Amino acid sequence: MTGTSKVSLTEYIIDPQNQREGWHTLTIGDSGRIVHCRPTESVGVPNYCVVPAGVDMHSHVVSEGIHAARVVSGDGLVPALRDLPALYHRIGYTTVVDAAVSPEEVGLVRQWIAALPTLNVGFLVVAGDHPTVTEPIRRRSVAGVRDALRELLAASGAWGIKVVNPSAAGRTPLANLHDPGPLGVSPAEHIRLLAEAIDQMNIAHPMHIHGLDLGIPGNIATTMAMLQAIEGIPVHLAHAQFHVYREVDGRIRSGAEELADWVNTHPEVSLDLGQVIFGPTVTVSADLYLQARLRATHGGRWGVWRGSSGGIAAVPYRYRRANLTNAIQWAVGLELALLVSNPWQVFISVDHPNGGSFRSYPAIIQWLTSAESRLAVVEQLPKKVQQILDLPHMTREYTDREIVVSSSAGPARRLGLVSNGHLGEAAEADAAAYALYNGHVDWSQPQWVIKNGQRVWTANEP
Ligand SMILES: [Zn+2]
Repeated sequence: MTGTSKVSLTEYIIDPQNQREGWHTLTIGDSGRIVHCRPTESVGVPNYCVVPAGVDMHSHVVSEGIHAARVVSGDGLVPALRDLPALYHRIGYTTVVDAAVSPEEVGLVRQWIAALPTLNVGFLVVAGDHPTVTEPIRRRSVAGVRDALRELLAASGAWGIKVVNPSAAGRTPLANLHDPGPLGVSPAEHIRLLAEAIDQMNIAHPMHIHGLDLGIPGNIATTMAMLQAIEGIPVHLAHAQFHVYREVDGRIRSGAEELADWVNTHPEVSLDLGQVIFGPTVTVSADLYLQARLRATHGGRWGVWRGSSGGIAAVPYRYRRANLTNAIQWAVGLELALLVSNPWQVFISVDHPNGGSFRSYPAIIQWLTSAESRLAVVEQLPKKVQQILDLPHMTREYTDREIVVSSSAGPARRLGLVSNGHLGEAAEADAAAYALYNGHVDWSQPQWVIKNGQRVWTANEP
């Protein structure tokens, strides 16, 4: 499109942010933004429907850690930077957030992002343990923390602030959130100071936290203690699946219900799933204690990159159906998604590449929209796992509208992205078209995807 040309499309749309569903005429200006989106008379039974393109709330795609993961895996498991846009487009996504960029690597990360023009890439800056922040934490000064964070955020150009494992250094599982840590404040105090400070900054995205005790059986107690310490203050829980395990007789069990009950009565809380996918992957995390434990268990190559915010470590891993812990982890993510009643509070993620690849999002959507497809996987799990799971008894199936909320409209709104996640006036014309069968969306692959009005993906084209 050039000059003042406009393009009009008449499409059947689902646009939850603007509470619209049905036939509409979308007019896209030469700026690549939607000029208007107006209801129009039905032009028959739709063959496909157009939705706002996906927004991946929590992924790792451009930070040092992912380069570490690529080196460590060495076998194509972690896609090359240049392949990211096409791989996201083919699952209907055009926006992605790298959730762990240290202040020191911001300059480099911006260069990587500039090399990906058809992907809208933002990032969160890891700041909870930054030296300029820990000094006012020691003084218990919310204003001091707020000012330090504001400076880090402004200097970085990040979309929000990521907090990893506050005051957890050197602790053995499970953490007591109320014991003083290395800064002289307890993890609970540290987290509350950060949450209050971020809340005072008047930014759209609340504290985005990777909590303590990730992956440890019994960690639901830590997660709930953290939520109680910051009750009433907005928070986003990253990769929540990894933080909701009960422990019974030394074995891992699902604690999804306890967290979901809290989220269902606390609208200020949101989460992304951190769903695990069976198969090989590489885990990458700023939680060096977690990574050291994983590596000690599984051996093999690993990589650690250090910065002043702590560092990032990459460790190869394989999720197996026959492994009791992995089988329960798989179920826990889906249980969380099905038990949180409001899709505006729960977003699809795998914490790429930690739980698996973002390329698995169509599979996750399939499990959320079809109880039968979940059962088909459950039947492949060890019998003793099948017997203790709640998942097989859950009958909820996400509607197509709920999928659009959880994969696009919800994360966009939670991130404060006013131009993404919807098809209203002034939005970027980022959209995906999916085939409809018997009135239901076939989420397996989009028919086409546009980014700023330009076609970036067409099905069945090489
Ligand atoms: Zn992550």
